[in-house]
Amino acid sequence: MTDDLPTLTAEITDRAARVRDEIAEAAVRAGRDPGDVTLVAVTKTRPIETVRAALAAGLRDLGENRVSELVEKSDAVPGEGQGGDVRWHLIGSLQRNKARDAAARADLFHALDSVRLADALDKKAADAGRVLDVLVQVNVSGEDAKHGVAPEATAALLAHAASLPHVRAVGLMGMAAIAESDAELERVVRPAFRRLRALFDANAGLSVLSMGMSGDFPVAVEEGATHVRVGTALFGPR
Ligand SMILES: *Cc1c(COP(=O)(O)O)cnc(C)c1O
Repeated sequence: MTDDLPTLTAEITDRAARVRDEIAEAAVRAGRDPGDVTLVAVTKTRPIETVRAALAAGLRDLGENRVSELVEKSDAVPGEGQGGDVRWHLIGSLQRNKARDAAARADLFHALDSVRLADALDKKAADAGRVLDVLVQVNVSGEDAKHGVAPEATAALLAHAASLPHVRAVGLMGMAAIAESDAELERVVRPAFRRLRALFDANAGLSVLSMGMSGDFPVAVEEGATHVRVGTALFGPR
């Protein structure tokens, strides 16, 4: 993509309109209100010009997966928690030694996967004088055991988070395996999203269901996603 702001803004505006259309069509197919789906624009690895163009294109929810990049970009474009008017989503797994910056900068953290990380975030959010909204990341694909808690462990981690004064668990996040075909979307991805949706329904009081990326967000919306995390479809290949 070009780095000329008006041209970049026009390209992103175009792509965002297409993504929003696909979200709306999927929502309607599922009898849902398209307004109930938040498009998180994943700006990871992109320069700050792309963030500015995304804002000019009307995107307000931005996603990063590395704390260092979140710090850099939220210095330039502050999130709601810092008095700005965008929402920064930290979507990647987090090491405890980065909890301080994460707790201070993220408006929603999507990848809580352990009690120890919850405790670290609670402490650092308290230091920052805020309550951090988090999602429990659940491993529903079964393929990458490193990220996300097992489905059976979800309720316990939610309960632990609920016991912490400076962390608020508001929902669940999950990733499906990458589908290579429409057949795989149906055979592998949809069942993974259904498992996450079932967990979401089984745990009372949750409002956010974060699932779906460029390759599978229409299926995620059909299966109940409230937040889709889309990078490539908005900004081109990384
Ligand atoms: C990079 C990333 C995305 C966006 O991926 P695209 O395929 O570019 O849409 C979504 N979620 C997470 C957790 C990511 O790391």
